[in-house]
Amino acid sequence: MANKDYYQVLGVDKNASADEIKSAYRRLAKKYHPDLNKAPEAAEKFKEINEAYEVLGDDKKRANYDQFGSADGPQFSNAGGGGFSDFFGGGFGGGFGGGFSDIFSDIFSAFGGERRSRVSERGEDINLAMKLSFEEAIFGVNKTITVSKIQTCSDCSGTGAKNGTAFSTCPDCRGVGRVRIQQNTMFGTTIREANCPKCGGTGKIIKDKCATCGGKGYKRVQSQITVKIPAGIDDGQTVRMRGEGNAPLGKGINGDLNIRISVAPHKLFKRDGMNLSYDLYVPFTTLLLGGKVDVALPKGKFALDIKERTPSGTIMRIKGKGVKALNKESYGDLLITLKSEPPKSLTASQKEMLQKLSNSFSESDFPKYKDFKKSNL
Ligand SMILES: [Zn+2]
Ligand SMILES: [Zn+2]
Repeated sequence: MANKDYYQVLGVDKNASADEIKSAYRRLAKKYHPDLNKAPEAAEKFKEINEAYEVLGDDKKRANYDQFGSADGPQFSNAGGGGFSDFFGGGFGGGFGGGFSDIFSDIFSAFGGERRSRVSERGEDINLAMKLSFEEAIFGVNKTITVSKIQTCSDCSGTGAKNGTAFSTCPDCRGVGRVRIQQNTMFGTTIREANCPKCGGTGKIIKDKCATCGGKGYKRVQSQITVKIPAGIDDGQTVRMRGEGNAPLGKGINGDLNIRISVAPHKLFKRDGMNLSYDLYVPFTTLLLGGKVDVALPKGKFALDIKERTPSGTIMRIKGKGVKALNKESYGDLLITLKSEPPKSLTASQKEMLQKLSNSFSESDFPKYKDFKKSNL
């Protein structure tokens, strides 16, 4: 290692600037990179170039090399503690580490290596809002909506190649999909396997592009989707349709379609979870005398039996006439609060009758009122 002329390997002058050395390395590394150059001597040449740049690309090592003919400085002194800390502090963390990986990513991007686009991924979710009427929410409904989304191209099955078949074997990896990447580090030469950057690990490259999607493998479409809103959905809840979101840009699975529901209020019914309720005004005489009253249900009506002498404010519970629970066969209740409605007006004779009626009662006919007066006034 110490005997090689690194300047000659990189083809630069002994007085070359750091930039000149870097650009010489960049040019040669592209030329001899084993992914890009299949000549038998390329790998050995690439190794030499890296070895040279590892030294000349680092100011400290270059100075040592110029002075001692070795990047490590005088060989005999290197075993000491000083040399070791210098090794990490100066060489590795400094110019070499950063510059080397920069150049590598340059090489990959310069040669069209799509390093990320073909790895498995998940498409983006689509989030929408939907307004429902009160009835649609409690009984469920199917809604057909148009969604703009990214879809895997069906003409090429997402491959981007014409008819999904117009491929040729990747010249870089010869169809294997994996390449060996040689890296010369200060710890020696390492060879690691990686996905072929040219074909993204598929071993194939597109020969003729799919005309429908222009070779992308996906396209934006206006898709009609029927959303099945389950009975019992409530304001603020979200319907999730798995896989109905955007297709991924590479291989992978679709995102989801999330539909956030808002429910319009009803003029009569109030909703609290699975229960429904409303206030019902009935003639004051009905609460006194009792009787049957037709009450509204979410669907149809019901003859409610009001007992004689029912206090105003009584809550009548009609079991099972509320909202269906989401995804199970159980229902909430309907709660009706009875309120006494006085007549809009009273004639003289009606007043007379009521006065007579009132006089017919004694205090003990209204024990609650009597108790209240006794203990609180
Ligand atoms: Zn390949
Ligand atoms: Zn296509």
